[in-house]
Amino acid sequence: MEEILSVEHFNEIKQKGIGYIAITDHILPVNRVHEVLCGDVSVKHFHKKVIESGRKNGKYYFVEDYFEALDKFHKMQRCSKCLP
Ligand SMILES: [Zn+2]
Repeated sequence: MEEILSVEHFNEIKQKGIGYIAITDHILPVNRVHEVLCGDVSVKHFHKKVIESGRKNGKYYFVEDYFEALDKFHKMQRCSKCLP
């Protein structure tokens, strides 16, 4: 598991197109893990949460297998669009 801290790293992961992205959020009751290419994983939202808000409300993690994210974060669930 690797935290994504820059737009460059985020774009690199999206371009490779392999693996999963887990998005944590302290406020939302449910957090989601997605395939990296899921339309719900956008650079716009990444920028807002990680760069503008300085990760205080939540973070982005790259994981090779989404089970890793489900194990680690208790509120984490599979995205209903890309991992139904
Ligand atoms: Zn998704």
